[in-house]
Amino acid sequence: MSQKRNPGDYKSDIRPVWCAGCGNFGALSAIYHALAELDVEPHMMVDVSGIGCAARTPYFIESYKMHTLHGRAGPVATGVQLANPDLTVMVTGGDGDGFAIGGGHMPHLARRNVNITYVLIDNHVYGLTKGQASPTSHEGMTTRSTPYGNQDEPMKPLACMLAYDASFVAQGFAGDPKMCARLIRDGLEHKGFAYVHILAQCPTFNAENDVEYLRGIVRAAPENHDVSDWDAAMRLVRKSGEHEPVGLLYKMERPTLDEHMAEIVRQAGGSRDYDIRKIIGLSRP
Ligand code: SF4
Repeated sequence: MSQKRNPGDYKSDIRPVWCAGCGNFGALSAIYHALAELDVEPHMMVDVSGIGCAARTPYFIESYKMHTLHGRAGPVATGVQLANPDLTVMVTGGDGDGFAIGGGHMPHLARRNVNITYVLIDNHVYGLTKGQASPTSHEGMTTRSTPYGNQDEPMKPLACMLAYDASFVAQGFAGDPKMCARLIRDGLEHKGFAYVHILAQCPTFNAENDVEYLRGIVRAAPENHDVSDWDAAMRLVRKSGEHEPVGLLYKMERPTLDEHMAEIVRQAGGSRDYDIRKIIGLSRP
């Protein structure tokens, strides 16, 4: 009988290169624990990333991995999942990668219900390029690109993901890896697009949102919060800012992109060489 894997079994031979105290460590530990809880076979797992400090995560996980272009992890992960729906497919990246250059892909991952888990580690700053404001940087925040204070309103990623119709939306805090592990595990088990937002610190380039500040603003979602109630989830995340709700915020079941594609293949007689024009009602010219 095979022995269940431990979190340590998912550590690759490459040691993380992040700065001491980086929030990415907490998120990585949570990923190891989530994979161990589900006993995911490393050869059946693919972690896809774009560019950034958080996007280095796949190197440190014992699995298949793709370190792709800035902001393009989502489309690549979509292709991986459609090519082999038996795989466990995860995206790991940061706020700049996911919501600046990659922001155009988020609605489509969500609305198409691509069967992947997106772990977005949000430290409200660009770390890899040495401290510029990101889409989630707070108003007034001083960074290397905003020496007089950030003039922009920060994005509300959770509200966006709900509006985009993501079928699983959760938020954790890197200072609580156990909670993050539960959320990532539940996201990996979810059939469809699971978005797990992790609030994290960047001690090197973001002194304002340090770990103590984040610990002070996170609040567990109310016990009576109904995760099937989209309006309630939206109200909860719209109020965020001063206090950030953590936990599972929204979840619903609906067909996934790979299920739709399987149906198309079935209608086409099970062949990859099908005539898409026939399926969509167009006759041959
Ligand atoms: Fe982490 Fe910030 Fe260092 Fe990047 S720059 S590794 S995000 S602490």
